[in-house]
Amino acid sequence: MFQTILDIIYPVRCPICGDIVIPKGEKICSSCRDKLPYIKEPRCMKCSKPLELQEKEYCSDCERKKYNFDKGYAVWVYNEDMRHSIAYFKYNSKKEYAKFYIEEMLCYYSKHIEKLAPDVIVPIPIHRSKYLERGFNQADILAKGIGKELGLPVLSKLLIRNKKTLPQKKLSDKERLKNLQEAFQFNKKEANSYDKKVTKVLLIDDIYTTGSTMEACTNVLKSNGITQVYFLVLCIGKGF
Ligand SMILES: [Zn+2]
Ligand SMILES: [Zn+2]
Repeated sequence: MFQTILDIIYPVRCPICGDIVIPKGEKICSSCRDKLPYIKEPRCMKCSKPLELQEKEYCSDCERKKYNFDKGYAVWVYNEDMRHSIAYFKYNSKKEYAKFYIEEMLCYYSKHIEKLAPDVIVPIPIHRSKYLERGFNQADILAKGIGKELGLPVLSKLLIRNKKTLPQKKLSDKERLKNLQEAFQFNKKEANSYDKKVTKVLLIDDIYTTGSTMEACTNVLKSNGITQVYFLVLCIGKGF
């Protein structure tokens, strides 16, 4: 009864078009779901960006940069619809979209995560000033939803973002990475408060664009005793 009243007052909104979702119980309109750019084969064996050619193993980025993270997955290509949806989620407090995102991440990748068997899940942190502005860290919401469903612990503060990064357009790849790495800190207190040894980490974020944030966090983790780093994100760019 209470849920029915809630459904009337706050009907579920589609994370793509923003309309009320019909039929009840669904989290997205079926026509919007049909146009979402789900990532399928062929995809990069390292970062999972979709590839143009079946015979290629890696995207040009992964071929060129030799990333230190071990492997990653993404649900969708970062197209205009997804950019819009995630912007609403982050900046217009459409926190309820997270339910749909988490459901899709699990639907497509829970088997992969179970196979990787990470010790803990860690969200990519945001700077405190952004947190105060937004009231939440979008990656943390996703991480907690996934952790809860798969019975995996979430260490939300294992990584801390202690520095805001300046616009990085003029920097080379190397300078950009160095800059970013300095922005993240490994939180020894959080690591020590966890009673088991952590060697495998699954990082969670909303968007993977250049890969430099993921790589910076990987390097910080790997220089602090973590041996394997994987990631799962909502969206990633194309690999061609
Ligand atoms: Zn829709
Ligand atoms: Zn790749």
